[in-house]
Amino acid sequence: MNRLDNFEKTDYVPVIDHDACTKCKKCINICSFHALLYRTGEKEDKSEDRVIVREDACIGCGVCASNCPGDAISLKKVRDSQPARTFQEGIQRMFAGKEAAV
Ligand code: SF4
Ligand code: SF4
Repeated sequence: MNRLDNFEKTDYVPVIDHDACTKCKKCINICSFHALLYRTGEKEDKSEDRVIVREDACIGCGVCASNCPGDAISLKKVRDSQPARTFQEGIQRMFAGKEAAV
């Protein structure tokens, strides 16, 4: 079972402002889903280093954004999910997602 199977994704993904990012790596260390990677660039001064978002692994929780000391992460809406109207509908969706993932 994929670790993401236990979580519902939000409609958002983080976007990194590379000019504001200080490359402190706090976001990478705080993400429980290993959805952020550090890519080292060619230059020794780290000006080409980048924090990369793995959207397939990200659930859009926003923890990285709220903990970024440089205010370099914003959340972008990428889906328009409709909430379940009833408890039963929510349960049906949950099990339908698990069957589709098998
Ligand atoms: S926490 Fe913010 S400043 Fe630090 S590496 Fe991540 S995006 Fe950059
Ligand atoms: S939004 Fe959540 S899951 Fe996605 S990269 Fe940030 S901390 Fe990780």
